[in-house]
Amino acid sequence: PTALISNFLRAIVESNLAAGTYVRDGLPPVITRFPPEPNGYLHIGHAKSICLNFGMARDYGGVCHLRFDDTNPAKEEQEYVDTIIDSVKWLGFSWEQDGRNHLYFASDYFEQLYLMAEYLISAGHAYVDSQNADDMAKNRGNFGTPGTNSPFRNRPAGESLAIFRDMKAGKYKDGEHILRAKMREDAMAAPNMNLRDPAIYRIRHAHHHRTGDAWCIYPMYDYTHPISDALENVTHSLCTLEFQDHRPFYDWLLETLTEGGFFKQPVPRQYEFSRLNLTYLVMSKRKLRQLVDDGIVSGWDDPRMPTLVGLRRRGYTPESIQLFCERIGVSKADGWIDMSTLEAALRDDLDPKAPRATAVLRPLKLIVDNFPQGESVDCTSPVHPHFPERGQRTFPFTRDLWIEQDDFMEVPSKGYFRFFPPIGDAPGSRVRLRHGFVVECTGCDKDADGIVSAVHVNYFEDSKSGTEGSNAYKVKGNIHWVSAATALQAEVRLYDRLFTEAQPDAGGKDFIAALNPNALEVVTAYLEPGMSAALPDQRFQFERHGYFVADRVDSVAGKPVFNRVTTLKDSWVK
Ligand code: ATP
Ligand code: MG
Ligand code: MG
Repeated sequence: PTALISNFLRAIVESNLAAGTYVRDGLPPVITRFPPEPNGYLHIGHAKSICLNFGMARDYGGVCHLRFDDTNPAKEEQEYVDTIIDSVKWLGFSWEQDGRNHLYFASDYFEQLYLMAEYLISAGHAYVDSQNADDMAKNRGNFGTPGTNSPFRNRPAGESLAIFRDMKAGKYKDGEHILRAKMREDAMAAPNMNLRDPAIYRIRHAHHHRTGDAWCIYPMYDYTHPISDALENVTHSLCTLEFQDHRPFYDWLLETLTEGGFFKQPVPRQYEFSRLNLTYLVMSKRKLRQLVDDGIVSGWDDPRMPTLVGLRRRGYTPESIQLFCERIGVSKADGWIDMSTLEAALRDDLDPKAPRATAVLRPLKLIVDNFPQGESVDCTSPVHPHFPERGQRTFPFTRDLWIEQDDFMEVPSKGYFRFFPPIGDAPGSRVRLRHGFVVECTGCDKDADGIVSAVHVNYFEDSKSGTEGSNAYKVKGNIHWVSAATALQAEVRLYDRLFTEAQPDAGGKDFIAALNPNALEVVTAYLEPGMSAALPDQRFQFERHGYFVADRVDSVAGKPVFNRVTTLKDSWVK
């Protein structure tokens, strides 16, 4: 591996490796897993977990499993399984090793999970509770107040087992009974609410996207997760901090099932790290779904969305996201990472890769009056200024050109070195048309409303960039342009951050109120002619404007639509 940035999890893995903690026949010394629930699209927060789990396996000669945590039939769908698989692959990770495909579904363990539950009942570690939901909630107590034992807590194991089998056989309605674990006699007084006889199975008459109608009882997350980890011989089960309070149950369950002969030591261990929160975004699936359902964005893959499909369509590279995840590291400290950190990783990744191109986003006609109508001169410029071996691009200089509207001021402000007309006795500005000629502004045309409709210049024939004569011209402005005769007209979508506030949903705020009304502006731009060959997903740096990608959905052959990935500099610095 390349130089590893250490963190507390790496330190744990390295000490386990040194101690030989997980030396097992035929198994790698590190097995991690990424366990998404297939109930939505992955977002940049998931990317942190993906990079951590797959990165750990990669760096220590292990393997990372992709496991769908699909135990909640009501919210899960095949569509989500497919997009999650796509996104993890796109990020650059693989769960195949030595010809084995480590793709798993918790639902494949339903039979084993069920048998282990029967064991727990028989051994006195679980019981069927038949209280109604209200009583169960009331008797659970509150934080700081002990709960009360269920009247069913000491029902004979044989009775619990019989009811549990009938639950499985479909003899009861949803909510009539529930299976609960009994970690200790006094568990209902545990300060940690998660340990007060946690539910491990519930009745749910619902169709499951993989097991169909085979089951009408489903295991709870807290029960399923440790067992799935153990069945897959996971060594380090890395999860976010909110599961810290669930860890005692994780450990108890695996220890108890090991005593029951289901597992062998060493069993997996759970370690927690802090979630990623990114400024100017919301990350919860529920809130992202609201943006989609309310039509605020065009879909899960809207380029403003923090979903991986959205970031991909926006033009983010997998490498930039991996780089970002490396830079933010992992710790147990909660906090917010600034959006500019993600954008900086993107710029650092794209700068050496992206070919340069010219685009005029807000066009204004520039007429070179002393250049013959109908003629053209080829101009060239490197595909990439730092990599001459990537060659040159060629575009024509003609009489009619497009420049940016804000590259002309009729009355220039102080220090403005771009186009302005003669004022009194003073001549108009002299400006270099990048990679072309030096021109001098002679005036402008206006329409009936007084809006500038064209700028007039004369060019100096001996000033062409790269020729000897060009050195004689000293100018302060260096302006990009495209030839009106050959420019490619294209739709360009100028994306910006989705929210105007750094923490749009902090403290339960109404995040909809913080939406950035300018997060999307669509312009009709003129691009250098070579851009007609841009392929979907191909990224460019449009000089002076930023990084752009040919939209993977709406581009058609010869007619790309471009998305702005990010500007060249951070424009959000306060
Ligand atoms: P959400 O709360 O957005 O619905 P989730 O945690 O319910 O997300 P899962 O599909 O259960 O989504 O998550 C799969 C894995 O990704 C879990 O291990 C979870 O801890 C991790 N994960 C989810 N969100 C983040 C985040 N913001 N930062 C780091 N890891 C995350
Ligand atoms: Mg979840
Ligand atoms: Mg969640």
